Amino acid sequence: MTCRLILVLGDQLTPDITSLRGADKARDAILMCEVWDEATYVRHHKKKIAFIFSCMRHFAGALQASGWTVDYRSLEQTGESSSFTSEVERALVRHKPDRLVVTAPGEWRLLRVMRGWQERFGIPVDIVDDDRFICATPEFASWAAGRKQLRMEYFYRDMRRKTGLLMDGGEPAGDQWNFDHDNRKPAKADLFMPQPLRFEPDDITRDVLRLVEQRFADHFGDLEPFWFGVTQHHAEQALAHFIETTLPRFGDFQDAMLDGEAFLYHSVLSIYLNVGLLDPLDVCRRVDAAYRNGHVPLNAAEGYIRQIIGWREYVRGIYWLKMPQYGEQNYFGHQRPVPAFYWTGDTDMACLRATIGQTKREAYAHHIQRLMLTGNFALLAGVSPQALHEWYLLVYADAFEWVELPNTLGMSQFGDGGLLASKPYVSSGAYINRMSNHCKGCRYDVAEPYGPDACPFNPLYWAFLDRHREKLARNPRMAQMYRTWDKLTDERRAQTLASADAFLAKLDSAERLTKSTAAAGDSTIIADTILRLCATRGLDKTICPSDVARALSVDENAWRTLMPDVRRVAGELAAAGQIAVTQRGTAVDPVTARGAIRLAQIASTKTRSR
Ligand SMILES: Cc1cc2nc3c(=O)[nH]c(=O)nc-3n(C[C@H](O)[C@H](O)[C@H](O)COP(=O)(O)OP(=O)(O)OC[C@H]3O[C@@H](n4cnc5c(N)ncnc54)[C@H](O)[C@@H]3O)c2cc1C
Ligand code: SF4
Repeated sequence: MTCRLILVLGDQLTPDITSLRGADKARDAILMCEVWDEATYVRHHKKKIAFIFSCMRHFAGALQASGWTVDYRSLEQTGESSSFTSEVERALVRHKPDRLVVTAPGEWRLLRVMRGWQERFGIPVDIVDDDRFICATPEFASWAAGRKQLRMEYFYRDMRRKTGLLMDGGEPAGDQWNFDHDNRKPAKADLFMPQPLRFEPDDITRDVLRLVEQRFADHFGDLEPFWFGVTQHHAEQALAHFIETTLPRFGDFQDAMLDGEAFLYHSVLSIYLNVGLLDPLDVCRRVDAAYRNGHVPLNAAEGYIRQIIGWREYVRGIYWLKMPQYGEQNYFGHQRPVPAFYWTGDTDMACLRATIGQTKREAYAHHIQRLMLTGNFALLAGVSPQALHEWYLLVYADAFEWVELPNTLGMSQFGDGGLLASKPYVSSGAYINRMSNHCKGCRYDVAEPYGPDACPFNPLYWAFLDRHREKLARNPRMAQMYRTWDKLTDERRAQTLASADAFLAKLDSAERLTKSTAAAGDSTIIADTILRLCATRGLDKTICPSDVARALSVDENAWRTLMPDVRRVAGELAAAGQIAVTQRGTAVDPVTARGAIRLAQIASTKTRSR
C-alpha cells in the first residue's frame, strides 16, 4: 500500500521540490495530471498548453527513470471534465494513501480549492511551502509591515544584501545599486541580433502538439513552429546560451523595441523559471560570475539580476500579501472590454500590430512591449483591469497568476491605486517613437497632437490625464505633466479631448462591428461573452442566449443571425462543465432544445469567468 500520494503540478517541475523532500521512492507515489479545467479556465495560448504538457511529460519520465513511481494521467485519460479535485479523488481510490502531499500552488484560486481537500477526502493533506523563491511570503510580509510605500528599489537592496549578489563586502559593486539610467538606449535595426536557443520537438512533444491541435484548436495563438525547450537540460542550455551571446548587451537595450525583432537582448527564460526548470538564485549566481570574470559589464549584470531578485520576488510578495482582494481592484473604475484587435492584431497602429502579431506567433512579448504598448494603450483607453488580466494570463507562455496579476493590474494598469507603481506607466507616441522604429511604418503621424491622422496615443494620453485629474494631480511625479496640459490653449485642449473621444467611439463601434461580423465563425469571442455575462449576472441567476447575441451585435436586426452560433457555443461550454443550460429548470442540449432556454454560471466557474 502507498504511504503518501504526492501531487506535482505543471509549474512545480523541480526535482527537489518541497513535496518530494523526505519522500520514499519505495513506498510513495507521485501523481501528475493534465486537467481540462486548468487548460481552459482561461483559454490559454496553444503554445503555452503544449509547453506545459510537454514539460510535464518529460519531467515525469525523468522521475520514473530515477526510481519514482509516477502515476501520470494524460488529457486523453483525464478527459474534458477533469479538475485537480476530480483527478485526486480518483487517484486516492487507486493508491489508498495515508496522506496527500502537495507543494503550495502559485495561484490563490487553487490554494483555496486545496484547503478544502482534507475535509472532502477525509485524509490528512499537507500543503507544504514552496521554497523556490529568495524571499519567503512571511519574510515579505514582515518587510512590508508598517511601510507606507512598498517600493521595489528598497526591497531589491535588501535582497542584494541577503544573497550577496553583486556585493563587495557590504557595498554594491560599482558603488551603485542601480544602473538603470545606462539602460535606455534605442536599438538600431542593423545591430547584431542574437536569438534565443531553439529546440526541435521530439516524439513526446510531437504527441502533445497533436493533442493540442485537436483539443484546443479554437484557443488563441499559433501552435507551430514550436521551439521551446521542455527539459531541465534544455533550460540550462538556453541559460548558458543567453549568458554567452546576449547578456552583455541586455542592459543597454532593455527598453528598446524593433519591428520584426521579437526578442532583442532579452533572455526568454521566464518560461523555464516559472515552471521550475531553472532556479532563480542559480541563474543570478551565474550572471554574477559572468560579471566577475569580465564577460559582461556591470550595467547588464545588475539590470538582469534586479529583474529576478527584485521585480520577480517583489511581485510575488505583493500577490500573496494582498490576495484575494487584490484581483478585484479597479482604481480608475475602467470598464471597457479588451479591444477586438487584441485578439487579431488587426489594427493600423503599427506598434500594436507588431506586438500582438508577435504575441500570437510566439506567446511572448518582452517587458516594454507588455508595459508600454499593450498595457499603456489599454490604460489610456480605459480597459477593465480584470478583463486585461485575463488577456495577459492567457496570451503569454510564462503567465502564472502570482506573477502576471501584480504586473498587469498593479504595474501596468495602476488598478491598485499606486501600491506597486509610484505613478501610472502611460506615455504619448513620443516615447514609443524614441524607443522603437515602429512609427516610421505607421499610418498615423506620431508628431500630430490630434485629428484623424494623429497617433492615437497622443490625444488618449492627455485625455487620460484630464479624466483622472482628481486622482493624479497631487502625485508629485505627475505635476509637470499637468502643468504642460494647463499651459495649452483652451482650443488645443478641446481639440485633443474631442480627438480622443472620436477615437474611442470608433474603437467601440469597431469592436461591436468586428464581433457581429466575425462572431459567426469565432467561438472564442462568443464563449468569452457568454462567460462574462453569466459571471456578471451572478450565481443562481440566468441569462437568455439573446442577451449574448445582442451584446455581440451592431444593430437590432443583426443579433438574430447569431443565435444558432450562440446556442452551439453554449452547448460546448455546457459539455465542458463551464455553464449550465436549462429549460424550466432542467438541463437541456441548447442545440436540439426547442423553445426558450437559459444559461447560468455554475459554482465551480464563479472565480474564472470575469
Ligand atoms: C502587463 C505585464 C504582464 C506581465 N506578465 C508576466 C507573466 O505573466 N509572467 C512573467 O514571468 N512575467 C511577466 N511580466 C514581466 C516581464 O514582462 C516578463 O517577465 C519578461 O518579459 C519575460 O521575458 P524574458 O524572460 O525575456 O525577460 P528578461 O527581460 O530577459 O528578464 C529577465 C527575467 O526577469 C524576470 N522579470 C523581469 N521583469 C519582471 C517583472 N516585472 N515581474 C516578474 N519578473 C520579471 C523574468 O523572470 C525574466 O525572465 C509582465 C509584465 C507586464 C508589464
Ligand atoms: S505613430 Fe503612434 S500608433 Fe503608430 S507606431 Fe507610432 S506610437 Fe504606435
